[in-house]
Amino acid sequence: MIPFVYERAQDAADAVRRAVALQAKYLGGGTNLVDLMRETIERPKALVDVTGLSREIAQSPDGGLVIGAATRNTALAEHPLVRERYPMLTRAIVAGASPQIRNMATVGGNLLQRTRCVYFYDDEGARCNKRRPGEGCDALGGFARMHAILGASDACIAVHPSDMCVALAALDAVVHVDGPQGARHLQLTDFHRLPGERPDLETELAEGELITAVELPPLPVARRSAYRKVRDRASYAFALISVAAALEVEGGRVKDVRLALGGVAHKPWRAWKAEAALRGGPADAGAFAAAIDAELADARPQVDNAFKVELARRTTVAVLTDLLGDAV
Ligand code: SF4
Repeated sequence: MIPFVYERAQDAADAVRRAVALQAKYLGGGTNLVDLMRETIERPKALVDVTGLSREIAQSPDGGLVIGAATRNTALAEHPLVRERYPMLTRAIVAGASPQIRNMATVGGNLLQRTRCVYFYDDEGARCNKRRPGEGCDALGGFARMHAILGASDACIAVHPSDMCVALAALDAVVHVDGPQGARHLQLTDFHRLPGERPDLETELAEGELITAVELPPLPVARRSAYRKVRDRASYAFALISVAAALEVEGGRVKDVRLALGGVAHKPWRAWKAEAALRGGPADAGAFAAAIDAELADARPQVDNAFKVELARRTTVAVLTDLLGDAV
């Protein structure tokens, strides 16, 4: 590992001050960043440790939750209000990684995970526009079974690896950040970027900005929600496809719905088209299939991962149908 400076922040303002002065990266649980440093994919001059910042999970005045960015994934998954009001979030977190990693990983760090594209990790053997913009992408025409089917570009077809973020996208989560220019809020669905010509730019964070919290709005539909992850083995594997869904049905029609997909794009994929097709319409398997078909009409799979289109379709219909069963 390349030598680096390490400092520990006292609070958010102190963290931002230190990060700007040192041109540092923020260190949460280190479950991805430290791996990348060992592989010399990431070469920060300095790290500012932000694990001492807020781990509070507090109710907001409107009945939502504000989750401190240093909250460990395990603590969030186990929180009684999360389990009761946003069960898809608990299920998404538990579907990710191993218990040991969930005990270390923080909420803020989870948002900043980098892709697990194998070519991205092969610094000496593969071309990668995410590591070195303009170099080329060896996943294109290479082994692309795990890669994107939606929103990709000719520069990059990588997927975002997080499970938690897929649930947060479906739950209308808001990301609180602080930085040299002050504090601001971003919708989680706007936080991560599609690759376009600059796959090295993965989020809308500006230089020196720090994630301080994630806010969940009150969302009655989320009480009946689920997360299903389809993967190559039962644990400690990234998603081929995942589906986060919440469904409220009244009189046989969809009153409210939230739907997001994982394993399909460079960012957690909120299925806006499918939601629009479902809202107010019949709540049955035929309508669920038509809605997800509308979402997947733009899919552009590679040779190796064409199966993901049908897998996303079937998994979405199955999850919504299961939720419908709960509703009647
Ligand atoms: Fe790099 Fe993206 Fe291509 Fe993977 S898909 S090699 S991350 S540019």
